[in-house]
Amino acid sequence: MRVLGLTGGIGSGKTMVGTMFTELGAELIDADQLAREVVEPGQPALEEIVTSFGRDILRPDGRLDRRKLAGIVFADASARARLNAMTHPRIRERMDAAIAARRDRAGVLIVDIPLLFENARTGVVEKVIVVWVDPRTQFRRLIERGGLTEEEARRRIGAQMPLDEKRGLADHVIDNRGTPAETRRQVEAIFRRYATEG
Ligand code: ADP
Repeated sequence: MRVLGLTGGIGSGKTMVGTMFTELGAELIDADQLAREVVEPGQPALEEIVTSFGRDILRPDGRLDRRKLAGIVFADASARARLNAMTHPRIRERMDAAIAARRDRAGVLIVDIPLLFENARTGVVEKVIVVWVDPRTQFRRLIERGGLTEEEARRRIGAQMPLDEKRGLADHVIDNRGTPAETRRQVEAIFRRYATEG
């Protein structure tokens, strides 16, 4: 497969763009989904998180309270580094296996990796697509999506490499400031290029 990395910032439109690629026939591996899997009950990462952050980080049903954990780690860079050390190697392992399992197939494989640049993961993909919006649009859409206060949104954006910087590192930039239809046209152009090159 042609393995293309999809990245951007929180709220820049990666999920929407990833869905558009799958509608065209691409396969998708989603790092956020893998991140949820590695902290399922019974997984070693969850045990390490409980040891490090305390039992209060679990909900009554024994599952990870992701919101509570996010509140801690996005307010404290060293806690975030501690969490990442427990989860990132396991996410990476699952992702590498998922890519390897598909590599010999035909078609386009999109790997949605929010922290592709921050975690130096460019080596696992052939090309990098960055979904870019201006900072004001990013902040507004993040708030409109719901679930985060303005302060939380600011912290999460601040924990990532700025989108303008990511844009400079991309092979392809999708400008998602416009309507979804305008974004879809850009997605189609990229998909066609790699789907036809085989
Ligand atoms: P990410 O996966 O990068 O965090 P999403 O795909 O979830 O971003 O998009 C963030 C929010 O912005 C979502 O609520 C989504 O529906 C909305 N959104 C994304 N692209 C557009 C667009 N071009 N126009 C209007 N709303 C958009």
